[in-house]
Amino acid sequence: MADEFLAQCVTIVGAAHVLTDAHDTAAALSEPRGLWHGRARAVLRPASVDEVSRLLALCNAARVPVVPQGGNTGLVGGQTPDASGASVVLSLARLNRVREIDPQSNTMTVEAGLTLAGAQTAAESADRLFPLSLASEGSCTIGGNLATNAGGTAVIAYGNARDLVLGIECVLADGRVLSNLSKLKKDNTGYDLKHLIMGSEGTLGVITAATLKLFERPRAVETAFIGLASPAHALDLLVRARAAAGGMITTFEVVPRIGIEFVLRHARNVREPLGGVAPWYVLLEISGHDSAALQGAMSVLLEAVLEAGVIDDAVIAASLEHRKDFWRLREELSDAQKPEGGSIKHDISVPLASVPQFIDEATRAVEAFIPGARVVAFGHLGDGNVHFNVSQPVGADKQVFLARWQAMNDIVHAIVLRHGGSISAEHGIGQLKRDELARVKDPVALEVMRAVKAALDPNGILNPGKVL
Ligand code: FAD
Repeated sequence: MADEFLAQCVTIVGAAHVLTDAHDTAAALSEPRGLWHGRARAVLRPASVDEVSRLLALCNAARVPVVPQGGNTGLVGGQTPDASGASVVLSLARLNRVREIDPQSNTMTVEAGLTLAGAQTAAESADRLFPLSLASEGSCTIGGNLATNAGGTAVIAYGNARDLVLGIECVLADGRVLSNLSKLKKDNTGYDLKHLIMGSEGTLGVITAATLKLFERPRAVETAFIGLASPAHALDLLVRARAAAGGMITTFEVVPRIGIEFVLRHARNVREPLGGVAPWYVLLEISGHDSAALQGAMSVLLEAVLEAGVIDDAVIAASLEHRKDFWRLREELSDAQKPEGGSIKHDISVPLASVPQFIDEATRAVEAFIPGARVVAFGHLGDGNVHFNVSQPVGADKQVFLARWQAMNDIVHAIVLRHGGSISAEHGIGQLKRDELARVKDPVALEVMRAVKAALDPNGILNPGKVL
């Protein structure tokens, strides 16, 4: 039976694109953090919508589970098959064309396997901006970005991935193609199905292409690295920056001193951003078309907040290189935690006004739970989204520390929920938070989600064991 199934896959995509050899499939069967490893019957690599459609019809008829995969950068195990070896991994990597750029409509239609960096470059080639921006952008794909409703560093100005999409093309579990590559800003013709598919993490359909929104490219940018005393001061800075610079703010990232120390210790080509040391830092960027106006706005803002005691110090990037130096400190933060040993992650969001109190309460709770644990709370403060990561105590046993992952999550997430927050701000649910979602999500919402899943994928072949 297995051979017959694989033989039919071969007739659809060709023998070269039905990978079964352990050497060829290894990369697709584990993920960046090494937390999940799976097995699969094969990794299938279709090159067209028609091939995806025929493969799904085949898998649906044979009841073979399908795990869609893009760049394999997901952080919640959504793209990794389970250990049974019953599934196939459906890689979208070969569907990577830019189908159309329409500068007048400010849209771009691209295939799901195009990397995010590839989409950004394509937009630039038409003198436009595609603003989604993640540290993984060289590898992650548009399909993965939409399937996870990715966030990143530009959400404060442009929204999450789902806000950047006008239309999608998607293959349903039975092989039917839901084709809606609309360029319309206004279209109130019933349920907006693209929003159902986006953020569904491959459990409701396989995205094959999308029509994305493009924006005018900002001609000027001002970047400042700012030292301040606490997250409460950072929030005060954000409120004042919004009042002064409003829609011009395109980045507002927070980094604690310990994060800078990790980066200085473990990354290359990095240096102290300010003359002295501060307990917390903000990377603030404002963008627009008028360089002089931006410089003026940034200077006036920084002088005012310095005077008011909101910040302690600030440096404005004097060149493109200097700006890159600032960004490197932020972008290297994820990798710089690895050499420090085990790290227990929380990708959470709370209402903006609650961020300082959340960080304070969660830090105290975690330090009481594991004395010596080192909190590295950083990220997209402008969106209320904090990566509340906790590194193991110096010299502790990594496995013993990581064994307390769930218990620590329970403590931190209880505080998140008390503040009306979310246990997954931007990385999704996957397998990491599936059981917890079932505990914390509104029961009616869960019922509706299960009903939608049953309607679109009655045989449960699409990414089983993920999300629900
Ligand atoms: P994969 O990892 O391959 O898949 C992710 C999920 O989407 C899986 O459930 C998979 O089944 C599904 N999927 C993939 N392609 C499709 C498709 N075509 N159709 C249907 N389902 C599909 N995320 C953020 O949101 N913000 C960040 O700032 C951020 N920073 C990161 C930094 C680093 C260093 C790393 C390693 C990851 C980061 N991520 C971040 C997480 C990750 O990059 C995103 O979730 C990204 O959107 C995943 O894209 P991918 O192509 O790698 O998808």
